[in-house]
Amino acid sequence: MLSSYWGFTSFRPGQAEIIESVVGGTDTLALLPTGGGKSLCFQVPGLLRGGVTLVLSPLISLMHDQVLGLAGRGIAAFAMTGRVDAGLLSNVRSRMSSSNSFFLYLAPERLNTRQFRWLIQGQRVGLIVVDEAHCISSWGHDFRPAYRTIQQLRENYGAPFCALTATATRRVERDIVKNLALRSPRVFRYSFDRPNIHFSVRQVVDARGEVLSWLDRERGPAIIYDSSREGVEIWAEKLRRAGISSAAYHGGLNAGFKDHVQRRWMRKKVRVMVATNAFGMGIDRPDVRLVLHVGLPDSLESYYQEAGRAGRDGRPAHAVLLVSPEARKARMALLRAGSFRQRIRANRLVRPILRYAEREMCRRWGVLGYFGENIRVPCGNCDVCGRLKREAPHH
Ligand SMILES: [Zn+2]
Repeated sequence: MLSSYWGFTSFRPGQAEIIESVVGGTDTLALLPTGGGKSLCFQVPGLLRGGVTLVLSPLISLMHDQVLGLAGRGIAAFAMTGRVDAGLLSNVRSRMSSSNSFFLYLAPERLNTRQFRWLIQGQRVGLIVVDEAHCISSWGHDFRPAYRTIQQLRENYGAPFCALTATATRRVERDIVKNLALRSPRVFRYSFDRPNIHFSVRQVVDARGEVLSWLDRERGPAIIYDSSREGVEIWAEKLRRAGISSAAYHGGLNAGFKDHVQRRWMRKKVRVMVATNAFGMGIDRPDVRLVLHVGLPDSLESYYQEAGRAGRDGRPAHAVLLVSPEARKARMALLRAGSFRQRIRANRLVRPILRYAEREMCRRWGVLGYFGENIRVPCGNCDVCGRLKREAPHH
């Protein structure tokens, strides 16, 4: 099966058990780090179970990539994004009816549209896949209210659920199970550790000097994250002036330009991408050597996910968080603003990232502990561990 459609003969660790559980019709929640071969965990079962596999995802570019990938393997698939005219829709419906298995990708916001209901009417749904499942939790970092409507699909189609996420604390995990109303689910949790990434935090006043010296030290491709659009534009300009090839990416650019910037980055025409958190969802460039945050991220989860874009190739890479007194003050102000509920939420998200940045404790220990993963010994590959090693008495 794998070799006839995918051309390889064995699964990565963990994939086989997930696939087995999903094929067997058990509700399954898989917490897999990015790059863990997530798509295979539902594509193989979808194919084996037959009928329509609904794939709910917030990532449009990812949907298109996957549809192309499936089509390349002779598997029928369609991503319902943007405007879909009546002609295309009836074409998709007839392809759906004549295929043994069909993958339909859509954002959960589309579930309540007439188009979707018409398309799916009378079809057998074999599997419901919920990608980026942490979006269902208001405690997660990218909450999307439409995810809460996914649960209704069960009543309508009776198919099992396969939920996947690359980031989840125990609380978010419980929320996923509850809000999708998973029935005696099997939960698979794999280590989120990325041993090849060196983590460090620097308290800085002169961020420019710090950024330039990091870029000088790590000569490979880099991503610099800032929290505001203006910040991103300013940094990209500063780097260009310093003679470093860079581009800016944020939610304020129009879609065509964003595509253009992204393509240049993927084709290695740009060395440093300066971006807000709008950049990176579903973008997989394996050779990034440095991910540097010049502003404090919204949460430790977002931070770890963004930092994790370094070193996907498994070679040594750096994740650096720069904390300026102003950034810290701005985050602290968040804790006091808004309604009671907003303040509670801000506390839940902001406190852990502040703790990560300020505590003199092995960084990996801190971040993995936050995800409920306990490591016994300090990692030896972060700034705190490095300092402890230097301070240790010599024999
Ligand atoms: Zn450490």
